[in-house]
Amino acid sequence: MKKIDIRNLGIEDLTKFIEKNGDKAFRAKQIHEWFWNKGARSFDALKNIPKSLIEKLIENFSFPVLEIHEIQKSTDGTAKFTFISEDKKLTEGVLIPSLKRVTACISTQVGCPLGCKFCATGQLGFDRNLSAGEIFDQITLMQSYALETYENPISNIVIMGMGEPLLNLDACTDAIQKLISPIYKGMSPKRITLSTVGLCDGIYTLADMQLGIELAISLHSAIQSERERLIPAAKLNPLSEITDALKYYHQKTDQRVTIEYVLLKDVNDQAIHSRTLAEFCKSIPVKINIIEFNPTEGIPYSKSDDKVRAEFAAFLESKNLIVNVRKSRGKDIAAACGQLAGKITKSDEI
Ligand code: SAH
Ligand code: SF4
Repeated sequence: MKKIDIRNLGIEDLTKFIEKNGDKAFRAKQIHEWFWNKGARSFDALKNIPKSLIEKLIENFSFPVLEIHEIQKSTDGTAKFTFISEDKKLTEGVLIPSLKRVTACISTQVGCPLGCKFCATGQLGFDRNLSAGEIFDQITLMQSYALETYENPISNIVIMGMGEPLLNLDACTDAIQKLISPIYKGMSPKRITLSTVGLCDGIYTLADMQLGIELAISLHSAIQSERERLIPAAKLNPLSEITDALKYYHQKTDQRVTIEYVLLKDVNDQAIHSRTLAEFCKSIPVKINIIEFNPTEGIPYSKSDDKVRAEFAAFLESKNLIVNVRKSRGKDIAAACGQLAGKITKSDEI
């Protein structure tokens, strides 16, 4: 029988197991501190836990962790990490240093089942969800690199790597809770942004959880028929329902949602698109991130011209919307948004 991943056990279940095996309840708290505060990555690392209890844990549970398989460095300082899991699956994370921040972009799935037409991950298909521990490991592993290389810790986390986080909501929110809990990592939830393609059910659940994290939604078109062509999941999550879900998120959290919009040349960058986008944004407090399209072989789109992008942004600003034009980072190592496809360059066998 397959052993349960010990990091999938909540504190109550771990306490029950420990008591049943004749040890003290407070050991569960200590073990969780090892996992989620000190970043322990093996049973051996649980230093102040009695040997007899560790043996029981080993007998009953597994402790799968992600390892670093490869790090690729961009000329602009961005570093792309390829992680490998115990069952030899590849997933990716990216560290993006800037003047005041070190942002970590992390993955929630191996591949993605949603198949957006412009996204390299979407073209891979789906393999499996990452566990809460595997999502958390990406931060632990990239943190050491950030401290060594940039001499600064990770200041912000964006859940914008491989996969759709709202399709792996339990593991994803479990990892977030460990990152923001004052008894574990104690990170400010405002420094964590979760990006979704716009799955309404998940947005409602997230709103009710009141984690205090930032929400970003990948809109890419405010015209339903055109959005469906780019994002197959848009059929089941029409714009009218997304509007309601975002209003609910705002009501519950009092936060301004970020609208992400990748500009695709001659596809969603014309006057009708900026007009419909401005219209869509009228009823919800938002800020808009205009994202440069990052090309990947086999994906039949190209980025909009600089002039078109400037006009698009200027129009939105003229409608009193908050607009950010985001420059791509790490393009030379395929670490930019939408380029994460689990391709490895290292020659050794997995
Ligand atoms: N599944 C989630 C999060 C991962 S994708 C989502 O779709 O939001 C993270 C961001 O990268 C999304 O905004 C997505 O639309 C964007 N993206 C995907 N492919 C891209 C590409 N080729 N160029 C630029 N951004 C891209
Ligand atoms: Fe999945 Fe997001 Fe890529 Fe769409 S854009 S395929 S939802 S990772």
